[in-house]
Amino acid sequence: MSVRPRDPDQVRLLEADEANLWHPFTRQKAYDPGRMIIAGDGCWVTDVDGRRILDAFSGLWSINLGYGRSDIVAAITAQLQVLPASSLFGQGHPLAAELAERLARRAPGNLDRVFFSVQGSQAVDTSLKLARLYWRARGRVGKTILVTRDRGYHGTSFGGISMQGMPALRLPFEPTLPDVRRIAAPFSYRCRHCQDQCNLGCADELEGLVQTEGADRIAALIAEPVLGSGGVIVPHPDYLPRLREICDANEILLIADEIMTGFGRTGRWFAIDHSGVVPDMLLVAKGLTAGYMPLAATIVTDDIFRAVTAQDVPGPEFATGNTWDAHPPACAAALAVLDVLERDDLVGRVAGMAERFAHEVRRVEEVGIVGDVRAIGLVAGIEFVRDRATREPFGPADGVAALFAEHCWRRRVIVRPLANGVVAIAPPFVISEDELAFMGDSLVAAARATRDDLAR
Ligand code: PLP
Repeated sequence: MSVRPRDPDQVRLLEADEANLWHPFTRQKAYDPGRMIIAGDGCWVTDVDGRRILDAFSGLWSINLGYGRSDIVAAITAQLQVLPASSLFGQGHPLAAELAERLARRAPGNLDRVFFSVQGSQAVDTSLKLARLYWRARGRVGKTILVTRDRGYHGTSFGGISMQGMPALRLPFEPTLPDVRRIAAPFSYRCRHCQDQCNLGCADELEGLVQTEGADRIAALIAEPVLGSGGVIVPHPDYLPRLREICDANEILLIADEIMTGFGRTGRWFAIDHSGVVPDMLLVAKGLTAGYMPLAATIVTDDIFRAVTAQDVPGPEFATGNTWDAHPPACAAALAVLDVLERDDLVGRVAGMAERFAHEVRRVEEVGIVGDVRAIGLVAGIEFVRDRATREPFGPADGVAALFAEHCWRRRVIVRPLANGVVAIAPPFVISEDELAFMGDSLVAAARATRDDLAR
C-alpha cells in the first residue's frame, strides 16, 4: 500500500514524540518513533502515513464497539455541557446512580453495590483494601493474606504489581505488599499437576495454602476468570466452581477480575457467567465504556457493603476515593455502551462469531512454530514454541511474540505481544466476516515470515 508523504506538522510531532514522550510498557531503545496512530473508524485505525490498519486488539482489549461511534460521543458531549465533573464525596449525581443501578442488575448473583474509580488498577486496589477491611470489620483481624495466581495480571498500582503473576513485571519494584501468596494458574498446556488431562490440582493448591497458612489468615483470592495478559488462558469448566467451593469452605473472598473480559468479550456478559459461579467482588473497566472514557468499578455483595459500613468509626467507614471517580461524562459513555450492547445484542453476536474467529486464528497452526492456540468468544492467544513435540518455549531473547506482531503490523493488522512467546488477539465486537478473513490471511503470512526469520 502506498504511503503519503508526511507534512511538516506531522514531522514536528514525530520529533516531539522522540524527544519528550516516555511510552508505557515500551522498550524505548527499540521504539520506532514513526509509529503514530492518528484516527480510527469501525475496526480500523489510520497511522501517520495514511495506512489503514485493522485493530485486531481493540486498543488494549478495550475499544470493544469499534472507533468513531457517534452515539457514544453524543452522550459524552451532552453530559459535558450539563455537568462536566462532580465528585461523589458526600453527594451524588444522576448518572452515577443510574449506572450503579444498571450494573447491579447486570452483575451476577447478589453483587449490587458499586464503587467507581478511574482505571482498572484502582478497581483492583479497592478490592484488596475492601477484602482486608471486611474481615477487620467482622472482627477477624488475622485474615490479611491475599492470594493470587501465577500469570495473573492485575494492573500496575502497588496493589496490582503485588498481585502480579509474571515475575518480570513485579521483581523490578520489590519489595511489594506483604502477606501475598501465589498458586498455580489453571494452564493445562503447561501445568505442574497435569498435562492436558486436568485434575484440578491447580485449584487444590488453594486448599494446600489453607493447610499451611490456616484459613483464619487468608482474606481473599483474586483471579481473572479467563487470564488475559498472562497468556489468554481458558480454565477447565470445573475449575472456577472448585475454587468457589474451597473459598466457601474456608471463608475466603473470591474477587473476579473481569477488567479485560467484562461486557461481552468471551461471549457472555461476564466470563465468570460461563461457570455459574458468583464471586464476592467483580472488577470491571475497559469494556464498561468501550474505551471512550476512563472508568472502572468494584462491584460487591450487600454483605461486604453492610459489614464495612457498620463499623463504628468517627469518619468515613471506607476512607478512600479519587478526584475523577464516577466522572459524569464517563458514566454517560458507560450508559451509552450498555444501551448499544443491549439494543444490538452484541454479546450474542460475540458468541455467534466465536467459532468463525477461532477458525481464522487456528489457521496459524499450519506453521510449525505454533504450539497452542486458545480462544473463547472474541479473544485468542497464540503460543509460539521452539519445539512443538516437547513444547520447548522460545526464550525472552528470541522476542518471538514481538517479531510476529511486527510482521502483522507490516501486513496492516495490530495484535499484542505478551510475555512467554504468546500473542493476544481481541478484535472489536463489530468485526465483519470479511475483516476476519483478512485478519486470518495476515496472521498466517506473519507466522510464516516469523518462522523464516527465526530460521536464518
Ligand atoms: N486487570 C486486568 C485483568 C487487566 O487486563 C488490566 C489491564 O489490562 C488491569 C487489571 C489494569 O487495568 P488498567 O490498565 O485500566 O489500570
